[in-house]
Amino acid sequence: MRKHQSAVKAEEDFCCTICYTSLAEDEILPLGLCDHIFHKECLQDYIEDMINQFKLNILCAHHAQCGKDLSYKDISACISKDKF
Ligand SMILES: [Zn+2]
Ligand SMILES: [Zn+2]
Repeated sequence: MRKHQSAVKAEEDFCCTICYTSLAEDEILPLGLCDHIFHKECLQDYIEDMINQFKLNILCAHHAQCGKDLSYKDISACISKDKF
């Protein structure tokens, strides 16, 4: 089941690398340290997942090509403080 494969290709650079759909329409959040852009909802899930795994350094979700840490500001912009 590989729908969308060719349709998304042209917009690759503007896709969220967490959910692989276009960043055009939803609420997005650029990271402070590396300028990668993700859906805010996707980042929320991603960060919560990392916290659940007790990861201390949460890397940019574009880690295949990036590897920068998320700043505290980015993290706190995504999730409420009582979880962090
Ligand atoms: Zn997304
Ligand atoms: Zn990045």
